[in-house]
Amino acid sequence: MRKKMVAANWKMNLSMADAKQLVLDVAARLPLLQEHQEVVFCSPAVFLHGLKPVMDDLADKAVSLGAQNCHPKASGAFTGETSIGMLDEAGVVYVLVGHSERRQYFGESNAFLKEKVDALIAAGKRVIFCCGEPLDVRESGNQNEYVKQQLLDSLLHVSAEQMEQQVVIAYEPIWAIGTGLTASTDQAQTMHADIRALLLATYGADVANSVAILYGGSCNDQNAVELFACADVDGGLIGGAALKAETFLPIVFAMS
Ligand code: PEP
Repeated sequence: MRKKMVAANWKMNLSMADAKQLVLDVAARLPLLQEHQEVVFCSPAVFLHGLKPVMDDLADKAVSLGAQNCHPKASGAFTGETSIGMLDEAGVVYVLVGHSERRQYFGESNAFLKEKVDALIAAGKRVIFCCGEPLDVRESGNQNEYVKQQLLDSLLHVSAEQMEQQVVIAYEPIWAIGTGLTASTDQAQTMHADIRALLLATYGADVANSVAILYGGSCNDQNAVELFACADVDGGLIGGAALKAETFLPIVFAMS
């Protein structure tokens, strides 16, 4: 059965104490998730070590720790960066790659994102690969080609086994991130089906049917149920609504 996932992207928010409490509050109200369901907390790097013992205590709860960024090189003169080995020591399982804020504010190119994908896959980590179009591309009607190119340039070179075991894709239209505008179920499903068709053409049916494709962009307790009910939407990547247990949990419960 295909994995269903709700991943929190806290961005540059919360304090260490808030982050720990949030994980505990969410975990306390989680029913034992089914085997195919998972909740991921993508934390600022500086909190990861502090969260590790909390996550270790929740090992039976299908919750995992994620990072928001990594550097593809193993070590060296990259001031301010965090290597995958460092993330590994902190218990990180998932790493976001290609979030639009990294692309936009930190100039991360498709080629650089490919390097990150390769380094993470080689290290045995799981990648949540973010893709999505800006508003002008959506308005021009070229969004599917745009997203396809992002995937071709940075992700679809990995092997079928790696894709199946280590990759989750998150479609996040940039115009919907943090704006309160959400893609309609039709817009989300159309894009997700297109991404799955690309996986089918590249890897075949087994892989295409097993890779989770998440939706991100102003997902909240009001729209999660209908978005997650779309045939090719396997959960969500959640920003603002993931900062409080009371707004995050209804989204987790919307996962079927
Ligand atoms: C995100 O940052 O990945 C995101 C989806 O943010 P928001 O839910 O706040 O739109």
